[in-house]
Amino acid sequence: MASLIICYHNINKNGIITPKTFEENVRLLISKKYYFATLDEVYNHIIGKKELPEKTVHLTFDDGYSDNYTEAFPILKKYNINATIFLTTSQVGLLGHLDWNMIREMQDSKIISFESHTHSHPRYFLMRPLKEKLAGDILISKNIIKENLKKESKYFCYPYGEYDDLYIDVLKSTGFLCGLTLNIGLNNVNQNPYLLKRIDARGPENWLKKRMVIYSNQFLSRIYEKVYKKI
Ligand SMILES: [Zn+2]
Repeated sequence: MASLIICYHNINKNGIITPKTFEENVRLLISKKYYFATLDEVYNHIIGKKELPEKTVHLTFDDGYSDNYTEAFPILKKYNINATIFLTTSQVGLLGHLDWNMIREMQDSKIISFESHTHSHPRYFLMRPLKEKLAGDILISKNIIKENLKKESKYFCYPYGEYDDLYIDVLKSTGFLCGLTLNIGLNNVNQNPYLLKRIDARGPENWLKKRMVIYSNQFLSRIYEKVYKKI
């Protein structure tokens, strides 16, 4: 009925989320009987076109780090869990980032889909006066994804979680159906699809355990949302 979207970045043994922690997160969600929806399903649920189970989750990864392939992908395959990776297309192939061979292999597995996180990952306050420049940067990423993956990117993730009404106008004009923020909370039917909420994974297994108690209860989650806004 309400979808939880979790935001990851790096998955590596020296980072905040280690492969062990990530696998624990996945196992915890499985043990709590969460349904792993695709982003298409979450979007169709929000616009009222699809029913989803009471406890639904979708996993996302921002920026396109190479450890998403070396560390997260084997775990996602092991449990047959789908996820979305938001690519900063100018960084594809750079040190520490995914390259197109890794990306295509993950896309071919049918469990990972790739969407746009802009081309250059700009700070919005620098781009805001230049609406056309922002639209151009987003369109470059959309075209690069189309060329390399033969698909139309429909879902967008705001760099740094920054957005405003003008940004949303740009997304609409460049053909995106929704935008993922870093605002915390659950996603419900009829909410604005350009303001999808996520929780930012930032700790060991206990961190997710606590959040899941909050987010399995709509009332608690609304209070938490109001008090913490962006935590
Ligand atoms: Zn980012």
